[in-house]
Amino acid sequence: MKTDELREKYLAFFETKGHTRVASDVLVPTWDPSVLFTPAGMNQFKDHFLGKVKLDYTRATSCQKCLRTGDIDNVGRTAYHHTFFEMLGNFSFGDYFKRDAINWAWEFLTDKKWLGINPDRLTVTVYLDDEEAGEIWAKDIGLAKAKIERLDEGENFWPASAPSQGPDGVCGPCSEIYFHPDEGKSVEIWNLVFTQFNRVGDPPENLRPLPSKNIDTGMGLERTVATLQGVPTNYHIDNLMPIVQAAAEVCGVKYTLDSDAGRRCRRITDHVRACTFAVHENVYPGANKEKYVVKRLLRRAVLDGHQLGLRDPFLFKLVPFVVEAMRSAYPELTETTERVASVIQQEEANFFGTIDAGLNRIDRVFEDMRKENRVKVEGGVAAELYQTFGVPPELFEALAAEHNLTFDWEGYTRAMELHGEASGKVQHTVMGAKGPLDSLKHALHSTPFLGYETTEAAAVVKG
Ligand code: ATP
Ligand code: MG
Ligand code: MG
Ligand code: MG
Repeated sequence: MKTDELREKYLAFFETKGHTRVASDVLVPTWDPSVLFTPAGMNQFKDHFLGKVKLDYTRATSCQKCLRTGDIDNVGRTAYHHTFFEMLGNFSFGDYFKRDAINWAWEFLTDKKWLGINPDRLTVTVYLDDEEAGEIWAKDIGLAKAKIERLDEGENFWPASAPSQGPDGVCGPCSEIYFHPDEGKSVEIWNLVFTQFNRVGDPPENLRPLPSKNIDTGMGLERTVATLQGVPTNYHIDNLMPIVQAAAEVCGVKYTLDSDAGRRCRRITDHVRACTFAVHENVYPGANKEKYVVKRLLRRAVLDGHQLGLRDPFLFKLVPFVVEAMRSAYPELTETTERVASVIQQEEANFFGTIDAGLNRIDRVFEDMRKENRVKVEGGVAAELYQTFGVPPELFEALAAEHNLTFDWEGYTRAMELHGEASGKVQHTVMGAKGPLDSLKHALHSTPFLGYETTEAAAVVKG
């Protein structure tokens, strides 16, 4: 089944269950100050759940374009995470509740008329003390007890790390559905959230029952397609592989699943898709908030290209491939292809400019080091080069590695912090506690970057 077919099937299925098809909300919801990017399908329905808006319908279904900055370091590392992805969802505003939500999810997944997934390959989780959901899975669906795992709030209360702690707003226990492609492997494909509380303020009395009980579900489009197509990662599905292949071609490498180049091609694919959608919505690379996310995604992809030997803008060439892959669901992309490509090309050119100028300066530092028999790049030197000439530290580090030298990240961070405190100039953006550059520092090294998770708490979606 093709990606476009699954998207349509899902919406059609829930239409047969009385749902109104609602278009995706924008990717950058400027109306919602609590998030930079739309993190889930439910975002546009928050006020519906709170009973704040007059409802034209009590059941809705949608395919929402989402972007999760918290997953940035999972990209290329896990088989199933993107920054930009699409979330299919069905929603009940005080209408049906757990029983229908669970029964319909199962019907859609396993019925031969719909997805026809082998039920033996599915397991579920429920929240620890959610007896009601556990009973429905066991009795209505007939799932064996061993296939119903009970997990705590870390996994099964959404969105939160504990029922009483987490962002203010609508929340509730949830039940996740996992697909097992092989023995020992599993991927979460669908989360059914039983939205029944509004969380306000601090525990213990902060979970207030909502005026009515609601349903909010989210199924990952790419993940579900990957399971149906039997491919090893989300990036191998029919609408992403052509972009991956184009990335490989543009970078002059042969794409393979397990290679370093392969990982870089997948990351380039993810980031250029995210940037295409953001720039399409007029969010250009810049210094703050969502603009900075776009800049960071772009630079990170450019650095991947740089590591593969490219020295000129290349990402922009992938924009038409993104548009081609996504056009049937988002035809409006075709109207801005050229503008998007040229914005991306310009930012790439700027950045490549810094990279090349940086190379010379870095070479000189290496020469000095060789003369003095030093093997560790001092953080202070890197900070000075950044502050005086804008030489990106990631570039410094990458080149140091190529010369068998080490790079003193701690010293670099310390020097930057010192400078920030001294001059008051280092801007603390929402991206990272230590300023914009800190958030870029892992670009070449897939080590966990915690800035987004810690500073964008409201946008981080757990569950
Ligand atoms: P995971 O535990 O795998 O990170 P999650 O529990 O954070 O997923 P939910 O918040 O429950 O995800 O979102 C609903 C569904 O959206 C998930 O079941 C999954 O199919 C999909 N999804 C979530 N995050 C991503 C992502 N970064 N890339 C692709 N699909 C995703
Ligand atoms: Mg997650
Ligand atoms: Mg989940
Ligand atoms: Mg999960």
